Order: sequence, then structure tokens, then C-alpha cells
Amino acid sequence: MIPVTKPFLPPLEEYEKYLEGIWKREWLTNMGPLANQLEMAYKKYFDVKHLLFVTNGTIALQLAIKALELQGEIITTPFSFVATTSTIVWENCKPVFVDINPETLNIDASKIEAAITDKTSAILATHVYGNPCDVEAIEKIAKKHQLKVIYDAAHAFGVKVNGKSIFEYGDVSTLSLHATKMCHTVEGGLVVTKDPDLLKKMARMRNFGISGFDSFSELGVNAKNSEFHAAMGLTTLAYADAIIQKRLELTARYDEKLKNLQAYRPTWHTQSNNLGAYYAVVFDQEEQMLRTMKHLSDNEIGTRRYFYPSLASALPYLEQKAMPITDDIACRVLCLPMYYDLSFEEIDMICRRILRVQNN
Ligand SMILES: *Cc1c(COP(=O)(O)O)cnc(C)c1O
Repeated sequence: MIPVTKPFLPPLEEYEKYLEGIWKREWLTNMGPLANQLEMAYKKYFDVKHLLFVTNGTIALQLAIKALELQGEIITTPFSFVATTSTIVWENCKPVFVDINPETLNIDASKIEAAITDKTSAILATHVYGNPCDVEAIEKIAKKHQLKVIYDAAHAFGVKVNGKSIFEYGDVSTLSLHATKMCHTVEGGLVVTKDPDLLKKMARMRNFGISGFDSFSELGVNAKNSEFHAAMGLTTLAYADAIIQKRLELTARYDEKLKNLQAYRPTWHTQSNNLGAYYAVVFDQEEQMLRTMKHLSDNEIGTRRYFYPSLASALPYLEQKAMPITDDIACRVLCLPMYYDLSFEEIDMICRRILRVQNN
């Protein structure tokens, strides 16, 4: 069986080394020394000033929305994981969907202004598969209309755009460190911001809104993460460059083997590069995609319809809305297996099967 994804597990001894320290200190959670060390290590790795290690990528989005005090309408993309939309609703705001660009699969920045009303408070966009949104255009629109910008950067581990970290764009970027993501802490997430005051506010909110021994400064929640998760983060971070390198090689192999496939890959931001977080293929026809998916599944090869269906039509707590480009692409897109242990031989076999379906 070849799964669509598989978590990266570092050598057990390396994780155990951190466990010995935890047993010695008897400090298990609540902003402990390993969580602190992990935050420093990520700051250095991403080359950013401020970030916080939180429970997961979903609560990272909730913290961002809450800390920015967003209200009313938030413009967002229908082509993402459900958490991008559900957190907006959870924070009592209204998601307003803007369709995607068919080449990049990111929110179409040229359609954002038409969706702005006097109730719009922010734009929440996803860097789909780690492919940067049109961050310059979004920045311009946000400035002109005084909107906040949050990027769901769950897939964008280590991504640079215009020579700097993708996290430099927007008011807050959020990252997921879930086990299925490229580099992980089992469960975990990050909020990243350039604004030190906003960071302090999110730090207090992460810890129940506690500001001192007997005082509370604001509404908070428990968004902390533990020493055990931090230990996994520190162990896997040491492999981040090797993981990326391997994924780049696997991506190149897929590109080469699938060059005769009647399908396209998302167009990448010209000032950035693909780090291989996912390998997505957009087939010409849904029927071709479904036949391919079934043939692979019959041969014990996992795939995922990432993202299907459109969030503008799939959620029972929202009014359904047609998004012509998303509705069309979500039906035709398929993510192929991609993980550190995947071999060239396995990719060759997967690609032979995909081409066999096309040529039948
Ligand atoms: C994984 C993911 C999330 C949620 O992250 P968790 O850490 O699982 O809570 C949010 N947005 C996108 C785009 C994701 O892929």
C-alpha cells in the first residue's frame, strides 16, 4: 500500500534524548524550555522576528482573527481546507468567498475589490500547496481599503517569496505543524507576525488571557502546546532541509514521468519556488480524474481530492454559493502520494498506471 502521505518520524534515539530532559525537569507543558527553544529555532529557520508555538493550525487561525478584533465580513477562498472557513464562522464573522485563479489555484486578487463592502474587515487567504498568493496585489488592496490580512500558510513551511520569508506578508500568518504536514510537531501550529504588540496580545490569549499572578488582561483560551510536541518539533526541524531536498527530487521525478499526461500543474509564483509540500494534478476532465483515482486505489495507491468540494458549497452551516472556477477545478484536481520515504521506483510505477488510464 502506498498512502497519499505518511508522517516523517526521526530516529527514536534523537527524540528520546529530549525526553530524558523532560523527565529530569518534570516540566511537561505551559511554555516550557523546549517550547521556548523550538520558538527560537523556528525564528532562526524562517528568519522572522516574532512567532508563537500553539496547539494546532486551526487555533492559530482563531487566535489571529480574535487578536485582530475582526468583525463582519472576511473575504476568503473557497479552495482550501475546511478550517480556513470554519474558523471565520467560529469567531462569529461571515466568510465572503472570492473565486480562485485557475492557474495558481489561489484566491484571484483581481476579484477581491468587487467583494468588499462597508462590513468587510479582512482578507483571509491560503497559500495553496505552499504556492504564494499574489501578496503584492493583496497588500495594495488591503492598504487602500484599510483591511487586515491573514494568510493561512499551513502548507508554506520554509517558503520564501521575493527573497524573504512568506510570513513577512500580511498582519498574521498561521502555520500547521500537524503530523501530515511537511515538518511537524505531531499536533501543533504557529502564529507569525511582524507586530510585537500583536504578538504579546496573542501570547496572553494563548494562556487564558492571564497577565499576572492574579490578573487577566483579556479574553483568552488554552492554545498552549506541550514539551513533548516541542521535542518532536526540535527533532524533525533538524531534518527540514533534507525533507525539502527529498520532496524536490520527488517532484522533479513526477514532472518528468508525467510530462505526457493531459493535465496541468498549478503555476507557481514567479518570485518563489515549490518546496514539494503536495503534488497536485488538474486533469482535463473529471471523468478522467475519477478513473485514474479508481485505478490507483484498485492497486493500493492512495490519492486525495485536495480540495474537494468547494467550501462555498459544502458546508451545512453556510448558504451555498456557486464559484464557477473553484467548482470546476475542485472536480478535476487530485493529489498524488508525496512523503519523505517515497521512492523513485514507486513514483515510476504510479506514473505508469496514471498514463495507462489515459491511453486506454
Ligand atoms: C492542515 C490545515 C489547517 C489546519 O491545521 P491543523 O494543525 O490540522 O489544525 C488549516 N488550513 C490548511 C490549509 C491546512 O491544510
